[in-house]
Amino acid sequence: MIYSSLLSDLAWIEHGFGTRDDAPLQQNLASLKQIHSAVVWMAEQPGCVGEGDALVTAHPGVPVSIRTADCYPILLADERKRAVAAVHAGWRGTAAGIVGQTIQQMQARFGTEARDLWVAIGPGIGLCCYEVGVEVARQFGLKEAGRIDLAEINHQQLVQMGVLETHIEVLGGCTKCDVQRFHSFRRDQERAGRMISFIRL
Ligand SMILES: [Zn+2]
Repeated sequence: MIYSSLLSDLAWIEHGFGTRDDAPLQQNLASLKQIHSAVVWMAEQPGCVGEGDALVTAHPGVPVSIRTADCYPILLADERKRAVAAVHAGWRGTAAGIVGQTIQQMQARFGTEARDLWVAIGPGIGLCCYEVGVEVARQFGLKEAGRIDLAEINHQQLVQMGVLETHIEVLGGCTKCDVQRFHSFRRDQERAGRMISFIRL
């Protein structure tokens, strides 16, 4: 597992970003059937909650989790209202503003304020490797096919929502480049495994 130093400083949560060889036990986790959307669910207990790409809970002991292989795992913790979220952000979810949707749902449900959030953006496919066609590129303001940095775009969306720069950690590491540590859909295609990331109160 890989750990965020920012989130590790919060004594009231546990978290981790899974790697090829190290994943939490999935039966204990709340999870989703991921569909590359901006749909956010609340988790009350372990198990599959529904179809969507972000999972929020305020229940102590219920880990919320997502699975990735190139898409970005993003973990959020509200220090004041004591709620946590796990987000799956590929290009579709990012274009649909999934981190903003997650924060809005936390605001509506728990009264979360963005300045109380701590956020870690885990490893995903890097700018070095993430070439996209013109249709995808246009979603992110480019005029033609090129490379996009999904970590940075999500970082910007978090800041626009009011999350403090000093409360955001981008862990880095490219899932496609780093064969030793990460699964990558672009590299391994249908054979690619998935990495499990989680956070819990
Ligand atoms: Zn790379």
